[in-house]
Amino acid sequence: KPVIVAIDGPSGTGKSSTSKAVAAQLGLSYLDTGAQYRAITWWMVTNGIDTADPSAIAAAAAKPDILSGTEPTAPTITVDGVDVSGPIREQDVTSKVSAVSAVPEVRARITDLQRAIAASAVTGIVVEGRDIGTTVLPDADLKIFLTASPEARAARRSGELKGADLHTTREALIKRDAADSSRKTSPLAKADDAVEVDTTDLTLQQVIECVVTLVEE
Ligand code: C5P
Repeated sequence: KPVIVAIDGPSGTGKSSTSKAVAAQLGLSYLDTGAQYRAITWWMVTNGIDTADPSAIAAAAAKPDILSGTEPTAPTITVDGVDVSGPIREQDVTSKVSAVSAVPEVRARITDLQRAIAASAVTGIVVEGRDIGTTVLPDADLKIFLTASPEARAARRSGELKGADLHTTREALIKRDAADSSRKTSPLAKADDAVEVDTTDLTLQQVIECVVTLVEE
């Protein structure tokens, strides 16, 4: 039976690096659900949809064709056949993704895609996001909830963004977490049966080993 692993938590906790490495080590597929929300946000911005208008977002939610490649060592994301892996990481998309992903029609659409991808995984899949254990895959075999102090998360994020100002990064990150945690539909939350791992004082390698051990148990 394919093994389903859900890894949730806020940004800067090492979710993506951990999820990819665990999937690669265990021969599983990998799905970055944040990339899907970023991709639909990129499409809205590119097509001139007002991201401050939930009804405009809802009306357009079914239009873009979003495709995720689930190989953990080389994940891909395309919108209407266009590779958007670069543009979806840009500041403009990052600042708008919480508003777009709070729209119920967007969540319903993306959740359907996620469930179909998980159902088609042959050996199993590691799915990372915010609401995987609570909403998307409540029957996952293992649920992990990663946390870290705001300082550690901001430091990791500004490392990734190469020289971004630490204070600005921290403020933007806290703002996005607050929006993700307070939305009405499937907010960022720990599932009751998730294992919480505080990564503040752990190396990436330690977090990976911890999750691999939990999957193998
Ligand atoms: O993980 P990442 O930081 O790329 O996610 C970008 C955004 O996508 C999050 O801040 C959140 O607004 C949204 N998201 C979500 N549900 C998920 C994954 C991401 O709402 N399962």
